[in-house]
Amino acid sequence: MAKDFQGKLFVFSAPSGSGKTTIVRHLLAQERFNLEFSISATSREPRSNEKDGEDYYFITKKDFKNKIKEDKFLEWEEVYKDNFYGTLKTEVERIWAQGKHVIFDIDVVGGLRIRDKFPEQTLAVFVKPPDINELIRRLKERGEESDEKIAARVAKASVELATAPQFDKIIKNYDLQVALQDAEDLVDEFLGLKPVKNEEN
Ligand code: 5GP
Repeated sequence: MAKDFQGKLFVFSAPSGSGKTTIVRHLLAQERFNLEFSISATSREPRSNEKDGEDYYFITKKDFKNKIKEDKFLEWEEVYKDNFYGTLKTEVERIWAQGKHVIFDIDVVGGLRIRDKFPEQTLAVFVKPPDINELIRRLKERGEESDEKIAARVAKASVELATAPQFDKIIKNYDLQVALQDAEDLVDEFLGLKPVKNEEN
């Protein structure tokens, strides 16, 4: 079905621990949006609650590098040392073939690359955490990573925060309920389901 359908692309990028995954899941649950999650490929180890082919395609570093050589990625990044992440071209094709719009949970560099490749069809949203201390608290609460890995994520966060102005929209995730509503409003507007909101605050 929908052979020639070209849907919209919703990019949600943010430092790790900003709550973007929660926002993306919330949007996916809203049936009116007709969204499908772009499953990234990664060479990192799965976390205890993650499933291959749902959260990520977990592949080896060797496989990942082969796919880079074969030009299989729309974008890819070595997000953390020796941990590769990338969007396979086949993901967007798979989702558009279902007549759906694509939603991405990817890092800031990858997010901006997607927007550059599909400038008209993409809404690139940056999710801003309250502050670095809150980010550290959330990462520790996850309890999945060593202090060293958390430190690497925090170090990267300040660089990522500086890219926020390059995004089309910024959502402040200080209060989750407000952030979820803001995210819904943005998607509604971009899909033309609701009139554009007056941005005064
Ligand atoms: P995590 O290891 O916490 O799942 O992800 C680490 C970072 O990599 C997050 O910022 C996540 O959004 C990002 N990421 C996940 N998939 C991709 C991808 O396909 N491309 C890029 N560039 N970043 C990704």
